[in-house]
Amino acid sequence: MNPRPSSALEKALAEAERLLGPERVVRADARSSELLGPNTSMFRSRRLAAVLRPERAEQVGPLVALFDRDADSAGLHAISTGRNWGLGSFQPAQDDSVVLDLGGLDRVRSFDLAAGWAVIEPGVTQGELSQLLADTPRMLNVTVSAAATSVLGNALDRGVGLRGQRTEDLAGLEVVLPDGESVRVGWWPDEHRSAPVYPHGLGPSLLPLFTQSNLGVVTAAVIRLPVRPEALRVVRLAFARPALGEAVTAIRRWVAQGLTRGVPRIFDPLAGGAYGGGQDEFLAHLPVDGTAEAVEALTGLLVAEARRSGLFTRVSSGADDTSAGAEPAELVDLIERGYAGDPDLADRLFEAKMGVPADQLDTRAGFVFFLPLLPLTGEALTEADRLIRQAVETTGARAAATSHLLGPDLVDCVVAIKFPREQAAAERAHRLLDLLHESFAAAGFAPYRLDIEHTGWRDAFAGDPGALALTRRLKAVLDPRQAIAPGRYH
Ligand SMILES: Cc1cc2nc3c(=O)[nH]c(=O)nc-3n(C[C@H](O)[C@H](O)[C@H](O)COP(=O)(O)OP(=O)(O)OC[C@H]3O[C@@H](n4cnc5c(N)ncnc54)[C@H](O)[C@@H]3O)c2cc1C
Repeated sequence: MNPRPSSALEKALAEAERLLGPERVVRADARSSELLGPNTSMFRSRRLAAVLRPERAEQVGPLVALFDRDADSAGLHAISTGRNWGLGSFQPAQDDSVVLDLGGLDRVRSFDLAAGWAVIEPGVTQGELSQLLADTPRMLNVTVSAAATSVLGNALDRGVGLRGQRTEDLAGLEVVLPDGESVRVGWWPDEHRSAPVYPHGLGPSLLPLFTQSNLGVVTAAVIRLPVRPEALRVVRLAFARPALGEAVTAIRRWVAQGLTRGVPRIFDPLAGGAYGGGQDEFLAHLPVDGTAEAVEALTGLLVAEARRSGLFTRVSSGADDTSAGAEPAELVDLIERGYAGDPDLADRLFEAKMGVPADQLDTRAGFVFFLPLLPLTGEALTEADRLIRQAVETTGARAAATSHLLGPDLVDCVVAIKFPREQAAAERAHRLLDLLHESFAAAGFAPYRLDIEHTGWRDAFAGDPGALALTRRLKAVLDPRQAIAPGRYH
């Protein structure tokens, strides 16, 4: 049951209705705490005060300012498309927030294929932007989430694409501050000057302040568009669990020496199932790109190195590979297209993994994510595998791990916990999630993204207490009346 709205909130919502039109302000009534429906993680639905749906960026400044007038008027939780599956979907971390749904701001305002940037709004999806770039010399760094997910929402939560971390794609942000002022930080196109894309400018760089942040609401961004490689192939390797440490050491050397680019991935046996992996078999995908001759040469080098090492039970490359155990050509094609900027518009791989179409995930599937960072060493990945198996054994839930290699020293370890949508199974999955937070923390591995039930870990993992205090001072200065809800990373 929702408590009676404060008069400050009533006033802000009444003015929001005048600003946006009544159909774009959905108020909670006393009967409903499920204003936006269930979330796939089966996390407790937060009590929401209202949902606001502006349709133009210019409306957001005046809207945010309405919530800055009185500390009692509730804080705003901004979402782009709200498909933050596994971490809470569209849900805010705290009760009694107002969800600011920016999915209606869906314009690609401008783009420049020669200079390699696009100005996009929060509702622009990776499917839409990649389609716009089809057959051009530029591409989008896509994730393996659904085509209908937001490029900007994912980047603001520090998501990871197949070409690298999405935060690195952000060159500029248009931010509405808590008092309603709109500012542009980082690099922005200027019709009078053709400055190359460089997000830092001179002096302190402000852009990173607004990722995983409660200091502003982002209404647009300049996104970098990488050059599309002329050719691309993914070398696929399989190995058994006892070889994990040595296989990782070998792959790290290839990453460090530039034989593979983008984000190579290592799948544990459960995660590898969707990619043609056999039972008890780990898989590795090593993308190779460049000119056609470079791809030919690098593929040959990697295949020869892999065979010589004696570590791998299967080595395949190219969609027409007919060697024993090679994956079907259609699957290889989907894998390679992802690395080349095609997010699989029909969500075939996504649906094969999740068992339901993307638009039914929140209502029909059970799913949570645990996302720790690891050093790229054989020991660390072996230890992570052990910790996951231990937690799975203790709880009886299922967990599939995919390591995204972000460079020779950094791994984004994605632990996906799928469960049937029933209470007992959800409790087991949530227990597994708690255990992983604890056991990985004890091993020194911290997560880089948090779900709405684990916001407390932000303090536990803050390195220097002075730095944590500084972010809270910034919040107090910029947002004294908490116009923006504290969020997951308060
Ligand atoms: C099968 C599967 C595969 C997945 N693969 C990937 C993957 O490869 N990489 C990956 O990173 N994730 C992945 N995900 C997780 C998730 O689906 C994506 O990260 C997705 O892009 C996030 O949802 P969204 O784009 O709708 O962002 P939103 O949910 O809209 O936003 C994410 C968060 O960013 C903040 N935010 C959003 N918009 C704004 C704004 N305008 N101003 C201020 N703050 C804002 C909010 O805190 C919000 O909760 C996957 C999920 C599944 C189920």
